[in-house]
Amino acid sequence: MDSFYSYSLSELEQLLTPKFKAKQLYNWIYKKYKPNFNNMSNISVQECRKLRHSYSLDTVTMIDSQISSDNTIKFLAQLKDGLVVESVALIMAEKKVDEVKQRVIRSEQITFCISTQVGCKMACSFCKTGEAGWTRDLSAGEIVAQVVRMKEHMRLGEKKMVNIVYMGMGEPLDNFDNLTKAVDIIADSYGLDIAHRRQTVSTSGLTPNILKLGELNTGVQLAISLHAVTDSLRDELVPLNKAYNINSIIDAVKKFPVDRRKKILFEYLVIKDKNDDIEDAKKLSVLLSGIDAKVNLIYFNPFPGSMYERPTQKAMERFKFYILSRGIFCSIRQSKGLDIMAACGQLAGKKVASPSMHERRKEIGRGFYKEIAQRRQS
Ligand code: SAH
Ligand code: SF4
Repeated sequence: MDSFYSYSLSELEQLLTPKFKAKQLYNWIYKKYKPNFNNMSNISVQECRKLRHSYSLDTVTMIDSQISSDNTIKFLAQLKDGLVVESVALIMAEKKVDEVKQRVIRSEQITFCISTQVGCKMACSFCKTGEAGWTRDLSAGEIVAQVVRMKEHMRLGEKKMVNIVYMGMGEPLDNFDNLTKAVDIIADSYGLDIAHRRQTVSTSGLTPNILKLGELNTGVQLAISLHAVTDSLRDELVPLNKAYNINSIIDAVKKFPVDRRKKILFEYLVIKDKNDDIEDAKKLSVLLSGIDAKVNLIYFNPFPGSMYERPTQKAMERFKFYILSRGIFCSIRQSKGLDIMAACGQLAGKKVASPSMHERRKEIGRGFYKEIAQRRQS
């Protein structure tokens, strides 16, 4: 049986009569997070029975979750074949000033970090996900369902805006068709309504698919995991570079359509004594000239058995200020969720060896998410 979450609205409209039933279903499933076809007041009992036989909704089950000291939540999402991936919710507190009422409004920005594959083929030498290799691609429905279940578990109302980054497990552009379909389904205004410009696809540099994504011209944001300014170092860090080198990535990026208000994001993982020198910063600024770019510096996050070291804060700051001095926007990514191994590159998709999984599942439905809600409000 196919996952309901794999169907675009127009596909459903072709399959269902009358056509408007598709929009009604989108409303139940994506705005009310209904996990089954029961008690849908505007859909008949017979119709619900038919739907139950045609489409599945148990595509992804959140079987565990952990909350870190900085309120990052790591979910363990189980797929129907028993495999698991991780999805992370990052909550950034923001303070905005209401100019009219002259007071500070506390708000929050929520970003979901979504997985696109079980494992990854790219074998980057600094990445926990790459260590174990690739098992399979996620279907479009499995990508979409992570978002639905996270919104549901976090008790986020349908209007609560979230951003999506495809920076969980896997190389999104290596699963191109399912990824692009999922992005469109997630953006549908009758469903989750998370616009393309709120979704960022991060890639280790699959040049042909960067070009393909650009040709679709959907408005989705692009992030390039660059990490090195010479091919020799990049070959070591990101083996895919041997097939698509730095110049080929830069050429593809130059062809990528960018919204006037947005920029292409270049992620640069900083590793002590490898790529944290001011000479690297200089080369990076030259490489990015002529591109509407912003740079995000990421501290290397260690994991058991990793062979690199975290850079010093001083080296990070020095790198950042050099890039800024060249007129390129640059920020340092706050590593969130480090204490629960939910930070960038630490996702492994391990099942927790807990004998009381059933209990944990019940807990997910109750107290645990109250705690999240309370923490979000405090
Ligand atoms: N495969 C895609 C998206 C998933 S990886 C990509 O590589 O872009 C998401 C981000 O995590 C990438 O920028 C990646 O370089 C970063 N990352 C991987 N391992 C890391 C580690 N050990 N410490 C910090 N960031 C890491
Ligand atoms: Fe795959 Fe991205 Fe990890 Fe590289 S950094 S192994 S591309 S998930």
